[in-house]
Amino acid sequence: MRETRSQAFTARWLWPGPGRPRENWQVTLRDGRVSAVGPRRLGQPAQDLGEGLLLPGLVNAHCHLELAGLAGLLPPDGDFVGWVQRLVRLRPSQDPAQAARQTADAASRMARCGVALVADITNTGLARQALFAAGLHAISLFEALGPSNCQPPPPQLTWQDGRLAAQGVAAHAPYSVPGPRIAALKALAGGQAFSIHMAESIAEMELFAGDGPQGRRLAEFLFGRGADVAGLGLLARRPLAHLRALGVLDRRTLLVHGAQLSPDEAHELAADGPSLCLCPRSNLGLTRTMAPAPLLLAAGVNLCLGTDSPASTPDLNLWNEMKALAEHYPGLAPDAILEMATGGGARALGLDQRFGRLAEGMHAPLCFVPLDSRPELKHVLEAVVLAAGPAAARAIGNEKIS
Ligand SMILES: [Zn+2]
Repeated sequence: MRETRSQAFTARWLWPGPGRPRENWQVTLRDGRVSAVGPRRLGQPAQDLGEGLLLPGLVNAHCHLELAGLAGLLPPDGDFVGWVQRLVRLRPSQDPAQAARQTADAASRMARCGVALVADITNTGLARQALFAAGLHAISLFEALGPSNCQPPPPQLTWQDGRLAAQGVAAHAPYSVPGPRIAALKALAGGQAFSIHMAESIAEMELFAGDGPQGRRLAEFLFGRGADVAGLGLLARRPLAHLRALGVLDRRTLLVHGAQLSPDEAHELAADGPSLCLCPRSNLGLTRTMAPAPLLLAAGVNLCLGTDSPASTPDLNLWNEMKALAEHYPGLAPDAILEMATGGGARALGLDQRFGRLAEGMHAPLCFVPLDSRPELKHVLEAVVLAAGPAAARAIGNEKIS
């Protein structure tokens, strides 16, 4: 008979999902899933985590873990095309054994700061073992490049020892994958998540508009790699309109970056239904800008957060992405930012029945953020997002690392 493992945790504050934190609640985990959440019950044993906030495990909705070997070698300087050129030059020179070690370390560090689920872009599948070994739930999104490179396998929502070890489909970007192939990849993804980078840089926007020095540089770079812009089959002068014309925008599509989206496009995106993943520090580093998050939220777009690759961001700590977002848009409510890093990511991946909230049936691990100060209720989430989370968040209920 299978052993049943049950453990209860309590903390001064608990944030089950959007809204205010609850004081002195507890959550019970049974066999790696939440079996109960509610006010602390006297007499029922629970591990008291103390002063701090207990919340759902985070969802990193966009990562490229297999680039961990390039960490620190390509500091972004605002020149997107130059950065891509350096990345392509350096990537083949990685030592496979060292890259595997760095990938394992990066996965472990990401898990330690309270991430539960990762959507990891891959061309090789090499990071899958590292994700599993770190106790993370993961969808490895196999990414197609160019007219025919890196054809993804069909999606599979596989569970292994109680953890999600799924595979899914991604296309690199509308400027690097021909339109008909993007449509075919979306069809291959079927009802599962389909991810594509979009409207990341000025160069991409100029390439679509057919005018501008950065667009010409990007087109020349692509041509040098055997991909002619004429072969992309562009259907519009903006990447969002191109994807709409291809018929690939719906609730199962996850657009990544959107740093160059216009206010009009924010409203169009809400009508189309895809989610948008911001990678705040990567966006600021590579393009000196970020998607208009307040406008997108007000329009009703489902937003989520990713770290992007270790090659374009200083670390894979999603709390640092929340802090960067909060500092860039000081008017954003802390609970909206936390929701982007939890429920928003789960919804974007079609997994909101299993991740992103503290409710019965949701999967561990959870996340705990200790608070040194004793903020009033109305300041708890702000303290967590701006200071305590990046400094000291940790995973709860991840048996691989605790
Ligand atoms: Zn990416």
